[in-house]
Amino acid sequence: MSSIFTKIISGEIPSNIVFENAKVAAFLDINPLTPGHTLVVPKVEQDNWETLDPKLFAEMNRVAQLVGKAIKIVYQPARVGLVIAGFEVPHTHIHVFGANSMEDFDFSKAKTDVSPAELAQTGTDLSTALKNLT
Ligand code: AMP
Repeated sequence: MSSIFTKIISGEIPSNIVFENAKVAAFLDINPLTPGHTLVVPKVEQDNWETLDPKLFAEMNRVAQLVGKAIKIVYQPARVGLVIAGFEVPHTHIHVFGANSMEDFDFSKAKTDVSPAELAQTGTDLSTALKNLT
């Protein structure tokens, strides 16, 4: 069965995609740690990052860096965090999010009540910033 992220990438499930190319997609996390929290996902469905093709992992990181720059421009956080976890979705992904303290890395405090309209606005803002960077 396809992962939820494969379904997002194919358009089967709605999402806010902010960047996409032949190998990688980046879309907003529905439960953001901070505004602009984005997941960078390879189109190929593979669970663990350690066994990914190194070139594909490098491409994910290149896109994560672009997303990080866009988050910095739009939200001006003190830092941009980068995390790979994968305890919920077994399709490897990099979390990219603005952070003003270590508390912003606490996934137990992720917001579960962000409205679709707010996520859509965030998606538009980040997409615009990313277009200006590429
Ligand atoms: P983890 O697998 O532990 O790295 O976490 C998976 C992440 O995917 C969580 O932060 C979820 O909020 C996020 N997530 C789950 N379903 C969706 C979805 N349909 N759209 C966007 N993000 C999602």
